[in-house]
Amino acid sequence: MKVHHTIESLQSDLLTIKKAGKTTAFVPTMGNLHQGHLDLVKKGLSLADSVIVSIYVNPLQFGANEDLSTYPRTLDDDLFALKELGAAHVFVPTDEIMYPEGKEVHSKVSVPKLGDRHCGASRPQFFGGITTIVAKLFNIVQADISIFGEKDFQQLAVIRKMVEDLCISTKVVGIPIVREDDGLAMSSRNNYLSSDERMIAPTLHQTLLAMKEKILEGVEYEKAETDAIDALNNKGFVVDYLNVCNSKSLEPATSSDKELVILAAAMLGKTRLIDNIELSLK
Ligand code: AMP
Repeated sequence: MKVHHTIESLQSDLLTIKKAGKTTAFVPTMGNLHQGHLDLVKKGLSLADSVIVSIYVNPLQFGANEDLSTYPRTLDDDLFALKELGAAHVFVPTDEIMYPEGKEVHSKVSVPKLGDRHCGASRPQFFGGITTIVAKLFNIVQADISIFGEKDFQQLAVIRKMVEDLCISTKVVGIPIVREDDGLAMSSRNNYLSSDERMIAPTLHQTLLAMKEKILEGVEYEKAETDAIDALNNKGFVVDYLNVCNSKSLEPATSSDKELVILAAAMLGKTRLIDNIELSLK
């Protein structure tokens, strides 16, 4: 496995792979890898000849009061895990490489509307930061396939839309949420939870499961949302949003929608947790 710190070094090796007629899969991450990330890499290994992983904590997607400086960075462990798994190349750029003249004056990519609701409403800089860095990484790597987790359901939808709108020639593949045994969706931010909070955290997933059942039994979306928010607040969460949506548009679900997703974000102490669950009314 080769670790690259410059675009030139990575692209020179990628050219060799291309010339040999081999296919590539790309997995962008912010590091602090857990099984969720590693499942993306495994998927890549099953779909392509070589897997390229990027590890970059992108400052452009963090708000002024968010956790950029404290975001967990565990590069040595990450590289060890990727090597064990069989990733071929890891791209670990610095801010100077990605934003040579500073992030403020860097060209930006945005996906309006789809990125405005949910996480986009409470984190206005978030999706613009993601689409800008992912578009740049897509252009650098030019992989046949790019793999993302459904844990970040809205992010996956935004990236699919960007790829379609901008005719980016990579095939976007999503993989299911990887969870801890108690149902908590794996996340680098779970490291922030105190031991008491960690015990409460799976309630988010349990609440979404219960909500799904209620909706399938015919409970109205608004009532299901209000009950779930009350249940989470009673457990100590501060709910940011919890919405029953059309799974494609991510707009509030209407009675004619059949494919739904419940999207949720909630603070537990200082930790922001997100989760989602899909349901089909067919
Ligand atoms: P991050 O490092 O948080 O930016 O995530 C990098 C990629 O890993 C994204 O495509 C995420 O959706 C995906 N990912 C993170 N956590 C999980 C999880 N628990 N299950 C599946 N994919 C995940």
